[in-house]
Amino acid sequence: MRPSLLDPLFASLSSLPGIGAKTGELYARLLGRESIEDCRVVDLVFHAPVSIIDRRKQPGIAFAPQGAIVTVTGRVDRHQPPPRGNANVPYRVFLHDDTGELALVFFRAKGNWLEKALPVGETVMVSGKVDWFNGRPSMVHPDHMARLNEGESLPLVEPVYPMTAGLSAKVLRKTIEAAIARVPDLPEWLDGSLLAQQGFPATSDALRQLHDPRDENDIDPQAPMRRRLAYDEFLAGQLSLALVRARLRKAPGVPVRPTGRLSVRVIDTLPFSLTRSQSEAVADILADMAGEDRMLRLLQGDVGSGKTVVALMAMLAVVESGGQAVLMAPTEILARQHRATLAHMARDIGLRIEVLTGRTKGRERDDLLARIASGEVDIVIGTHALFQDSVAYHDLQLAVVDEQHRFGVHQRLRLTDKGISPHMLVMTATPIPRTLVLAAFGDMDVSRLTEKPAGRKPIQTVIVPGERVDEVIRRLRSAIAEGRKVYWICPLVEETEESKLMSVEERHAVLSQFFGSQVALIHGRMSGPEKDEVMAGFKRGESRLLVATTVIEVGVDVPDASIMVIEHAERFGLAQLHQLRGRVGRGSEASTCILLYSGKLSENAQARLRIMRETEDGFVIAEEDLRLRGEGELLGTRQSGTPGFAIASLEAHGDLLEIARKDAHYLLETDPELEGPRGRSIRVLLYLFRRDEAIRFLKAG
Ligand code: ADP
Ligand code: MG
Repeated sequence: MRPSLLDPLFASLSSLPGIGAKTGELYARLLGRESIEDCRVVDLVFHAPVSIIDRRKQPGIAFAPQGAIVTVTGRVDRHQPPPRGNANVPYRVFLHDDTGELALVFFRAKGNWLEKALPVGETVMVSGKVDWFNGRPSMVHPDHMARLNEGESLPLVEPVYPMTAGLSAKVLRKTIEAAIARVPDLPEWLDGSLLAQQGFPATSDALRQLHDPRDENDIDPQAPMRRRLAYDEFLAGQLSLALVRARLRKAPGVPVRPTGRLSVRVIDTLPFSLTRSQSEAVADILADMAGEDRMLRLLQGDVGSGKTVVALMAMLAVVESGGQAVLMAPTEILARQHRATLAHMARDIGLRIEVLTGRTKGRERDDLLARIASGEVDIVIGTHALFQDSVAYHDLQLAVVDEQHRFGVHQRLRLTDKGISPHMLVMTATPIPRTLVLAAFGDMDVSRLTEKPAGRKPIQTVIVPGERVDEVIRRLRSAIAEGRKVYWICPLVEETEESKLMSVEERHAVLSQFFGSQVALIHGRMSGPEKDEVMAGFKRGESRLLVATTVIEVGVDVPDASIMVIEHAERFGLAQLHQLRGRVGRGSEASTCILLYSGKLSENAQARLRIMRETEDGFVIAEEDLRLRGEGELLGTRQSGTPGFAIASLEAHGDLLEIARKDAHYLLETDPELEGPRGRSIRVLLYLFRRDEAIRFLKAG
């Protein structure tokens, strides 16, 4: 149960004054939630300002620089309403100080309101942007006005928040103020010596200070209140991961005892032998699953390094031992492709593999669920639909999650929520640095696939200016005549974007003039079955040139595709370029990747393209990417900062993460059920950061 102390923060956001149906939608959008019902007051409390408006400049009217935001204290001299019947002329109010006169300008203003706000003869303070015209200064619609005689004042430093269209900054600030007023005095959950050593303020104070910056320094991630909150956030994260892990480990394990009955035959029919690191990964996994403890292992391997076959070996071990396994893919296409690949590799052993996605409906779904529940299915491949409440497994022993970083940790908790705690194998194609692994997954065992499967030919990457696209098309002509297959990737064009960018459809039309029916088109707005159809046609070779958006980014496997053209390559991030390029170079043929760019390249874009030309090593590319773009991009999310964290950032607060990890371990060692005095406070912390899923795992939850 959530401590009642936190109730005010977990009230619905719509309980704050001024949030109605319409503004509610805006707040939901601002906070990235489905609807206002999902928003709590606490969400706004963690909505941190990104900069400040500094109103401390008070140079005097005559010395106010053109265009600058200044604050003026002066006496109101007269009001000049617009002439009757001419609403286009603004309402003007004149005031002066020792240095000169300033006109405050209001369009479509209500006169009686202004007379109250700015009575003639009174001293007022106004703040806003100054415009000079014909030697006279004016201020159009001041941001703030205060009557000093009445004891009013105005903020000299104002926080500026990330915004969403339609919501005014003033309204948002007001709402956040109301949210902050609900912050209770929280118990101290940190150790006194750490507090002293780091100079942390108390959490309640830190939250208030966060929204009341005094100057630029208070916006800096290294400001004491931001570091305090970052630490709290890391600690909550590390604790919840550690609790989950402890619980996974404690769950009575059914040791997996593979007989080799299936895997030996599959290995025999593979057209290749496993690489050394593949064999090592399989050995790691089998050793983990043979023990009493649950496995929690990350399999890192670059695109094309052969993770799928490792996953298959793990799943076969479980099936041999009498259990079931699931494989979760990030997209429908990938799920079906995994199924095709695995079914092919396992074609001789009578494995029962099925697909379950959001698209599985009606009778077919009911029937499949029944067979999963009775154990008539060995391996289920799917999307997150695999873990919906309606799915009951007969004996689920292993969950493999492909490209986990697209899901976040919650899926993992969700799984355990149902009382199932299978062994976990998480596969990522992006070689994530250790600190990121730690923040996202907590302590996890890691296997890495370090070498590319034998027989891979290097991919030659060339950088070509967009003006030479005709030449590229001419070359493709002869390549296609030789029977080669080509991907042509276009960036997503947002509908609102005013640009000369060609959309996939347009590019498809242009290429069709040259290649006729050999060109196919695939993009995200097509239905699932349509996409499958197009992919199958390309695989079979009916089409030879596939024009695509980044829907083919992850995992798609057409081994004999050997040329990739990426249009507007300058618009893609390094990780994404690497992922895309990984679609070629998978077969026996030497492959080529052509990076087309347009316009003048920024320094950063130049660096990205150059790195692509120089290396194919995913680990090198990931490090460069982290350097060039920051961690958000590396994990495939667009928002800045560290995904899943409101305040903490690995780049800025990496030092704190390590301390938080040790702190979490120490805590759980000394007080595993969080029942001591500090443990009780720590529970508040977990709730505050919405990591309370983990609390259910405690005895006295
Ligand atoms: P990823 O790690 O990107 O998921 P895949 O598992 O899709 O890579 O493997 C890419 C390709 O490499 C597949 O066509 C697969 O059959 C092949 N492959 C996997 N392991 C080996 C190996 N040891 N030797 C040769 N080819 C392999
Ligand atoms: Mg894969």
